[in-house]
Amino acid sequence: MPLSTLRRTSVDLVPRGQHQGFTEEAVRDRRNWVERKTQVKLTHISSFAIPCSNFAGKIENPIGVAHVPLGIAGPLRVKGEFACGTFYVPMAANEGALVRSYERGMVALTRSGGVSARVHVDRNQICPAFSFPDVHSACEFARSLPLHFEQIRLQAESTTRHGKLESIDCYPAGRQVMARFLYSTGDAHGMNMIVRATDRACKWIVQNTSATEYLIFSGLEAEKRASGLLFAGGKGKKVIAGASLPAAIVKNYLHVSPEQMCALWRRTVIGNMHAGALGYCGHFANGLTAIFIACGQDVANVVNSSIGITEFELTAAGDLFASVTLPSLTVATVGGGTGIGTGRECLGLLDCCGSSKSRKLAEIIAAALLAGELSMGAAIAGGEFVSAHEEYGRNRPE
Ligand code: NAP
Repeated sequence: MPLSTLRRTSVDLVPRGQHQGFTEEAVRDRRNWVERKTQVKLTHISSFAIPCSNFAGKIENPIGVAHVPLGIAGPLRVKGEFACGTFYVPMAANEGALVRSYERGMVALTRSGGVSARVHVDRNQICPAFSFPDVHSACEFARSLPLHFEQIRLQAESTTRHGKLESIDCYPAGRQVMARFLYSTGDAHGMNMIVRATDRACKWIVQNTSATEYLIFSGLEAEKRASGLLFAGGKGKKVIAGASLPAAIVKNYLHVSPEQMCALWRRTVIGNMHAGALGYCGHFANGLTAIFIACGQDVANVVNSSIGITEFELTAAGDLFASVTLPSLTVATVGGGTGIGTGRECLGLLDCCGSSKSRKLAEIIAAALLAGELSMGAAIAGGEFVSAHEEYGRNRPE
């Protein structure tokens, strides 16, 4: 069909409004337009307290706010390098039994003396792909790129105050080369930051090497996609949290023995292997999603953040040692949705607003996920999983 005919086809575009559509009037007008068009009254969507100007850079075509119930779980004692103290963790979800379950694990951990947590590595990655006429040129480029590192670093870092290019690893494939740029990104999530920085560096590379063109994303970066590469880290913070729980506390608070927990772990590792799972965990995604929504994080990063390993071990004294290892936990306390509305308030509950707080947030989240793994594991091992959901999580709509 010719373009002129296509253009005459009637399509009702969403109104943009004035000033990019972020004034109170523009948001209200757009919402009214949707109400008229769909004949649905948007009472809840129109109820919110944050100024509409705060939507800029966070959402396009805003009409209001989506609400998710918010609960609080704790106390959670964390003995981290950055998070030291007792925390009450905000969690937003529509899943009954979830907050109660995390809270049960947190109480057991706190009664056991708390959770040790450490951020081992902190960086983010982007992997552009460069094109070459043949395999020989591609491999020569991959070998020689480290010689240009200093010039490339200067180009990249000229676009950001906080982004620091740490290394570049090359992955030749056919007649292209994927280059893995690894940055430290301070307390920001960093994707906007490092995409801009890497784009500047790529332009320099194409002008000064044999590369003919580039794609800013090759796919290797696994942004918001689960991938085996992320097991080695690279997408955020590698965080480890662990605790020893005395057998009596495991019995009193989780209603199982350490031996039952370890037997559950062994058997479900087999199940996960059969499923071809990436890593092993009970339900990292539950706690991550609930905390990410509450704390203004980019929720789609749950996909990479939930890759990791949970371990339950029996100690020589007959107690339970439990740990979680999260190689690619992507969290921020600056930028994105962290500075506005409920996200900022929830970060405030954890004393995690702004600069120098993202590693603290990461340690708290890792400790919270450990609590969730213990509680869910105990519910399954002890046969309480169904009854807990019947008590807290059933809705049965008419
Ligand atoms: P951003 O939210 O757009 O801006 C954050 C900026 O804060 C940084 O670039 C930095 O400026 C500044 N900053 C101030 N204090 C800082 C501190 N202590 N540590 C670090 N930075 C500090 O940037 P972003 O974090 O790069 O991007 C996050 C957003 O990108 C999220 O909302 C996410 O949804 C979105 N996103 C983008 C892509 C993409 O491909 N572009 C992909 C996925 C997600 P300087 O750079 O000048 O230092």
